[in-house]
Amino acid sequence: MVNFRTHRPSYKTKKSVDNPVDQWKVFENTHEAIIDEDTFTRVQELRKNKRRPTRTGKSNMFSGIVRCADCGEKLYYCTSKSFETRQDHFVCSTSRKKGKEACDTHFIRAVVLEEGVLQHMRLVISCVACYEDVFREALGARRSAEAKKELAAKRKALQKAEARLTELDRLFKRIYEDMVNGRLSEARFQMLSDDYDQEQADLRMKIDQLTKEIAEQEDQSGNVERFIQQVKKYLYIDKLTPTILNDMVNAVYVHAPDKSSGRRVQEIEISYNCIGILPANLLYNVQNAKTA
Ligand SMILES: [Zn+2]
Repeated sequence: MVNFRTHRPSYKTKKSVDNPVDQWKVFENTHEAIIDEDTFTRVQELRKNKRRPTRTGKSNMFSGIVRCADCGEKLYYCTSKSFETRQDHFVCSTSRKKGKEACDTHFIRAVVLEEGVLQHMRLVISCVACYEDVFREALGARRSAEAKKELAAKRKALQKAEARLTELDRLFKRIYEDMVNGRLSEARFQMLSDDYDQEQADLRMKIDQLTKEIAEQEDQSGNVERFIQQVKKYLYIDKLTPTILNDMVNAVYVHAPDKSSGRRVQEIEISYNCIGILPANLLYNVQNAKTA
């Protein structure tokens, strides 16, 4: 809800004047949301990637998602009426610009890309389905029971530190009054007040630290949980669809091919929503931690 968008310069006039945006007062969560926040932010992201259909009318679900691993630019979807599906491909958008920095080798066929991404997604899904706890832990999130305990302990410590901080203010006021009234010597006052100052400084540091830790832990475990819930919606996928892709993946990075082995080997990296790019060995480790 937004209030104070306009004001009336005088009660004598009926005309209202717009207020500058920084003077608006925004009250969040006053109405029930029509769509949940996750969906909303995801849609905003998707809208940033406007896709123009190609002249042939064909479009590809990877447009806007697939990027060059070297320059970070989007890869262009290239197709033509005379192309068979297996000929459709993506190239780094810099390859159309003349110049030395063009990444023209970042060429990948759409079907290869789709197959690669689907395979990796299946691997991730099976890891989550079979070894959920190990997967969670491997991503740095504590098992939920443990995490809850730890968070509760930290919140309690934070509360205690904040209470002590207020108490010290009160104590300081009292010794100050005592000194003024002559009940406490100035030297003794100085000593006590130095002690209190030191303790307050320590407490402030502790409070900062705890607040940060709590926020980080909540954020991280929240994201990992969201991802796990997302994956559970797609336990059985036989074909990649735009919905699944957009729900799970925010970017795919295509590397330059490596032909040193005599075969064309090309690495792609998938950045998943909520958790980003998984470290190279993570899935392997998860599967082996369980069987070990
Ligand atoms: Zn490039």
